[in-house]
Amino acid sequence: MSKKVTVLGSTGSIGRQSLEVIAACGMEAVALAANSSAKLMEEQARRYRPALAALADERAAADLRVRLADTNVRVVGGLEGVLEAATISSADTAIAALVGMAGLRPTLASIREGKRVCLANKETLVCAGPLVLEEAKDYGAKVYPVDSEHSALFQCLEANRDRGEVKRLILTCSGGPFYGKKREELAGITVEDALKHPNWSMGAKITVDSATLMNKGLEVIEAMHLYRMPVEKISVVIHRESIIHSLVEYCDNAMLAQLGAPDMRLPIQYALTYPKRIPGPSAPLDLWNCGPLTFGAPDLEAFPCMALALEAAKTGGTAGAILNGANEAAVGLFLEGKIGFLDIPARVEKALASVPAVQNPTMQDILDADQAARETVL
Ligand code: MG
Repeated sequence: MSKKVTVLGSTGSIGRQSLEVIAACGMEAVALAANSSAKLMEEQARRYRPALAALADERAAADLRVRLADTNVRVVGGLEGVLEAATISSADTAIAALVGMAGLRPTLASIREGKRVCLANKETLVCAGPLVLEEAKDYGAKVYPVDSEHSALFQCLEANRDRGEVKRLILTCSGGPFYGKKREELAGITVEDALKHPNWSMGAKITVDSATLMNKGLEVIEAMHLYRMPVEKISVVIHRESIIHSLVEYCDNAMLAQLGAPDMRLPIQYALTYPKRIPGPSAPLDLWNCGPLTFGAPDLEAFPCMALALEAAKTGGTAGAILNGANEAAVGLFLEGKIGFLDIPARVEKALASVPAVQNPTMQDILDADQAARETVL
């Protein structure tokens, strides 16, 4: 079980909930890192008293240094500062919750210190899964999933059976805010529409990914790497209620599911306490009043992002990095109001078609693929 934790991405949705769990479970936050939110970081530093607070944005770090001048918290800035938080020797655990490809280097840095890494940054595995997990093995770092679906799969696989007995991993998908809409109805979707998720409250990037269903596509690739399963053995089921967080089907057709209220604090906590379970702050599931549970097939024609992700998963190599880089850039343009909702899959498709995928990539191949994909989108 974790005792001293560094939280990378502490001002985001997962980071804030992680701090709640850490405090409620009697653990200690020894370092915090984020991108640029100086004001919220000041509040967190005053409340949780870490030894170190890092902001990637140098100007925001300078602001934070002034704000925290009356405390003992050491403030550092830039990527170097974030890496210092990622590798701080007093932490036994790192929560990797920075958004996007930007989380890759700090996550790897924590892995190379042999820390327990609670991974909430799915882009890290989508872009560089085999390399990251190889390093984890080499440095003796344990990687535990924070994503609710992957935590559910982890729990359903916990009997540690022979992987040959697993027939299929089944990820549940809420369907997002535009479930049931046809492709032509999605053309006029605004940023405001896309930021309303029915069940989960999350940051802007992942909320848009949930609306396009790219999020589920990224999660399939994440599961493929994390559990070493071919993409053909991973399925997605639409489950509007977000009560079952994912399932494992075994070769005898037994299916194991993990249920819980849609509350990220539970998977965060389990990544921190595994193999132990302890009482925590997450909401209990009221099975008697949660209503019927429904299941259906995803509509890949209306939501082509998921189909593109499955295609990238089959291609392998740098295809995941190309998919992710193009998606991050396209979602950025959509949030700025520069392109429409349906342009997101169109731009990602263009990137996958025009940037060649390299097999068995090095880290440099992955960074190059990410860059080339972003350039096709802008
Ligand atoms: Mg998820």
